[in-house]
Amino acid sequence: MSAIGSLVFCTDCGNLLDGSTGNENAVLLCEVCGAQCKDTAAKSITTRSKPSSFPSSLRAKRSEVQQLSEDNMQTDAVINQTCEKCGREEVRFYTMQLRSADEGTTVFYTCECGHKWNTNN
Ligand SMILES: [Zn+2]
Ligand SMILES: [Zn+2]
Repeated sequence: MSAIGSLVFCTDCGNLLDGSTGNENAVLLCEVCGAQCKDTAAKSITTRSKPSSFPSSLRAKRSEVQQLSEDNMQTDAVINQTCEKCGREEVRFYTMQLRSADEGTTVFYTCECGHKWNTNN
């Protein structure tokens, strides 16, 4: 029930890479060091740098990039789901395959009020 499996980190510098599709054939370009990393979201992550080992400027950049990516994803479809925060009955959603194909797809809901949640099918 955690989205942590969808995070992909640069194998060279540990930067958080955006645009993971869960497709392990995809190549993600690291914005920090320029390395081309495989989209390993479909597999388990074995190496991970501690966030505290990054200079603060890099960390700021990381969250900025992450924010952009989230905005981009909000172009997705609308579904009749009730937001438990504000009661709105239409929220946007998108799906993501987090792990292997035999584990269900995770559905992410995003409400206008900013509330976000997800469920596993
Ligand atoms: Zn890198
Ligand atoms: Zn809401």
